[in-house]
Amino acid sequence: MKQFIFIISIAIASSQSSLITKKYKDEIKQLSEQDIVKKAFDYIEELEPFTLKNNITITEIPAPPFNEEKRSKAFKAMLESVGADEVFFDGGGNVHALKKGSMDTNILIEGHIDTVFPMDTDVKVRFSGDTLFAPGIGDDSRGLSVVLTLLKVFQDLNIKTKANIYFSGIVGEEGLGDLSGVKYLFNSGSISIDYYIAVDGGGLDRIVTTAVGSHRYKVTFKGPGGHSWGAFGLVNPHHALGRAIEYFTNDADPYSRTKGDKVSYSVGRIGGGTSINSIPFESWMEVDMRSENPKRLNKMDKIFQKAIKKALKDQNKLARTKDRMTVDIDMVGNRPAGKVDVNNALVQRAMASIAYLGGNPTLGSGSTNSNIPFSKQVPAVTIGRGGEGKNAHALNEWWMNKNGDLAIKNAFLILLSTAELDI
Ligand SMILES: [Zn+2]
Repeated sequence: MKQFIFIISIAIASSQSSLITKKYKDEIKQLSEQDIVKKAFDYIEELEPFTLKNNITITEIPAPPFNEEKRSKAFKAMLESVGADEVFFDGGGNVHALKKGSMDTNILIEGHIDTVFPMDTDVKVRFSGDTLFAPGIGDDSRGLSVVLTLLKVFQDLNIKTKANIYFSGIVGEEGLGDLSGVKYLFNSGSISIDYYIAVDGGGLDRIVTTAVGSHRYKVTFKGPGGHSWGAFGLVNPHHALGRAIEYFTNDADPYSRTKGDKVSYSVGRIGGGTSINSIPFESWMEVDMRSENPKRLNKMDKIFQKAIKKALKDQNKLARTKDRMTVDIDMVGNRPAGKVDVNNALVQRAMASIAYLGGNPTLGSGSTNSNIPFSKQVPAVTIGRGGEGKNAHALNEWWMNKNGDLAIKNAFLILLSTAELDI
């Protein structure tokens, strides 16, 4: 999840406190007055050094999509050392610690294991005053460390619930991971999930209840390749790619300005080529388009497809030999749009809990693991990991523990009110 404010692209930002019904306000207030919750809140504060230490340990283990194994194994060991009824990997590479309840309801709370950074990125955490700098320090190492602390609170205070709670690390959230971990979870049916909570995003206030859908493509123009002088006149894939970007931008930009739901487009990476004095044999780019509205997204997709085909045709007209270029358009990401109703108990509890803790609950949209439960009508929210941070997905990402405990208390209240105390 991802662009503007600490990872997730947020489209809406007005407070929605007025949407909280009295029933849930009262429920959260009454729950918070119980001794066990007061104890848990004190314990969360006491555990701040534990949470911070875990955040650093996790950050310093590289975990690009498809290469999360080392971090997953370390996270599993960390869950085991906290303790649970069962700690296990599922077939999709996700890791879960199960705290059993007395009934059949299943709640899953997670952080995502992967980062956007390549394996050789320097992920050593640097301190400047009370600010921590490292790629991935917030997104989503902090989410994983929040999950670990929550498990420790339930475990050490021996809090019994009616629902089963899975404390999880999910793989493949970022980029070309294309939500593979959460897709596995819901498609395999290995755990039948009734409520899904992702800890991935900024501070306390924001709750993601709407999924931004996205289409992602890798486009590759291909030709025979040759010498820039000796084979001059041969079709040039880079020239076609440049033209394709121009055609796409020419039509995508005006469309993105038309009235209606936001729709975005971006060429994220380009590559290919052999040397300065070679006509390349291939030229590729990765393209990302997004909208909350599937119709707007599909229209943008059509504009994109048309631009690629036109670029191929026009550039091939310049050929001075009989060779022609081809193009492969591979869909490498397809994240569905979807949403959860504001009156759903999980959303109500999240809003009531944030308000109880002095925050300003704000519903928004994003592209997070919750996309998948949203699209399958399973109640889900993505909540903030707390503290303050910026520059997610950049090498200068930073995070600071400014009232970070509030986000952990928030997650705890949402979890406990949904799982119900079993006294
Ligand atoms: Zn994230």
